[in-house]
Amino acid sequence: MEAIEDKFGRSFKTLRVSLTNHCNLGCVYCVDDSAQPSDLPDLPAISTEQSLGTSDFVKVIEQLHSILQLETVRLTGGEPTLYRDLLPLVEGIRNTGIRKIKMTTNGSLLPAKIEALQKAGLTSINVSLDALDTTVFHKISRRRNLVKILQGIEKSIQVGVSVKINCVVMKELNDTEILPLLAFCKERNIPIRFLEVMQMGHLYGNFEAHFFPEESILDTIARQYTFTEIKRAHAATAKYYVMPDGYKFGVISNESDPFCNDCNRLRLDSYGNIFGCLSNNTAINLSSYIGQPEEIKLRLKEALAHKKMKFSGSKLSMLSIGG
Ligand code: SAM
Repeated sequence: MEAIEDKFGRSFKTLRVSLTNHCNLGCVYCVDDSAQPSDLPDLPAISTEQSLGTSDFVKVIEQLHSILQLETVRLTGGEPTLYRDLLPLVEGIRNTGIRKIKMTTNGSLLPAKIEALQKAGLTSINVSLDALDTTVFHKISRRRNLVKILQGIEKSIQVGVSVKINCVVMKELNDTEILPLLAFCKERNIPIRFLEVMQMGHLYGNFEAHFFPEESILDTIARQYTFTEIKRAHAATAKYYVMPDGYKFGVISNESDPFCNDCNRLRLDSYGNIFGCLSNNTAINLSSYIGQPEEIKLRLKEALAHKKMKFSGSKLSMLSIGG
């Protein structure tokens, strides 16, 4: 079969699927400050937004897998645990033969859902956690459900799902949380990755005020720990560092040191559009071409041609394109 590959040898092996644009947190990097009151009640636990239905999602993913031989599907959003038929969707993806089914989640609904999700075929989760301090957590997320998220993390560890924590570091908002979060994860022996804030959505062209670069993240950690850098794995999003006792943490420095030269990610949004690059706003619709592999291949080639060599930001929020 003709390979979908660009002149730099890049292809699509990881598919990130945004199941819904809705989220039950209102984090400052995703949602414009001015669009929200400072405090909001929790939103309903089920998204009311129209996304592709489960069988359509499975059909699109199956078709992409037959062309690309995908290694990983990562469910994201918005908040993927708000998607109504999450369990049948995970089962449907497992039935396509894709081995690794992962999810990026804010964790608030995990206490009720993680056990069933694991049984359905979910292999690992990344939980976004930007603070352990309740005041700082509220400043960033504009919600007060930190306790549920922490319970979700403990429950996931307990049932044996592989857990990683993601923390977006923002200057003067949560840079004081780096060391407490690192200690929390080290104690549980789960990796944490600190992310530089990226110029996406309402932060496009306007992210400097809260930018806390990799260098400052490492300086903060070096106040308390020694560590050395590990050789980065092919197509990995994070650079990892190891401490003398073997504990590893990562940094995702999309702004100061982006790794685009071996990026293998393709994004599918909740309306059936694909995006080949985080820095490109052009949506390419696939849902009308299910069952037409030649048409799908053409659109995959178009998406691959959008891949840049350096992250340059996007007007699309991660909320819709899928983090
Ligand atoms: N709701 C889920 C969650 O909270 O993990 C999944 C979607 S969220 C958009 C996925 C990831 O994108 C989160 O780890 C979030 O912190 C990150 N993210 C969103 N906007 C970002 C930005 N402008 N810069 C860096 N990370 C961002």
